[in-house]
Amino acid sequence: MIPPPGKGSLYIRPLLIGTGPILGLSPAHEYTFLVYASPVGNYFKEGTASLNLYVNNDFHRTTRGGAGGVKSITNYAPVLKPLLRAKEQGFSDVVFLDSVHKKYIEEVSSCNIFLVKGDVISTPSTVGTILEGITRKSIIDIARDLGYMVEERLVTVDELMEADEVFTTGTAVTVANVGSITYNGQRLSYVLSNINQRMVVEYKTSDCGLVSQKLFKRLIGIQSGKIEDKYNWVVAIH
Ligand SMILES: *Cc1c(COP(=O)(O)O)cnc(C)c1O
Repeated sequence: MIPPPGKGSLYIRPLLIGTGPILGLSPAHEYTFLVYASPVGNYFKEGTASLNLYVNNDFHRTTRGGAGGVKSITNYAPVLKPLLRAKEQGFSDVVFLDSVHKKYIEEVSSCNIFLVKGDVISTPSTVGTILEGITRKSIIDIARDLGYMVEERLVTVDELMEADEVFTTGTAVTVANVGSITYNGQRLSYVLSNINQRMVVEYKTSDCGLVSQKLFKRLIGIQSGKIEDKYNWVVAIH
């Protein structure tokens, strides 16, 4: 069932797995490609409230030369332990740092990350260690069209602590606002009143001035056919 507008979405997940009778370490001789679809609500249990992120210094989801840029199950196994620990402490998700310098932010366990400072929006460049999300790309396109300067570059964790606003993107989360970041025992809350936090991703509510909300509204508007799709992103299924 496809949920009615505003009441969740139909999540479509393609899956490719190696199948066939092999025990040894080698590429599979046969692959099974399947697609399943399920109605979903909000990705985070926080619903539309802001996320509380924990910057993890000890675990890395991937390394240079690895397969971090690929949508592969191998990139989820390393995040489970730090994610579980963070959730036990009440955090929504984990921000991972680069494994070489341990000072550049990469992404969250299943979404990309952006920060806003004035009229400039920055996001870590994809150098093989970050998944090149389609939502990341859509948000970059929308932001540029709305007149923001978007930089894809190395972003230090310290910049995150000095940003006006931080948000994450992904197919499942669309655009999720970040309410706080905890790094090295220091918790930084982004100054938003509670009411604003709740308004953040409810696109029907009035504008509360957040850049992430503006971008979210535009993306959802295009997806739902309320805003003209000049990008040719929307595909009609007959
Ligand atoms: C799926 C995923 C994203 C978001 O990608 P989208 O194409 O926007 O859904 C970001 N980071 C990781 C690690 C992911 O698995």
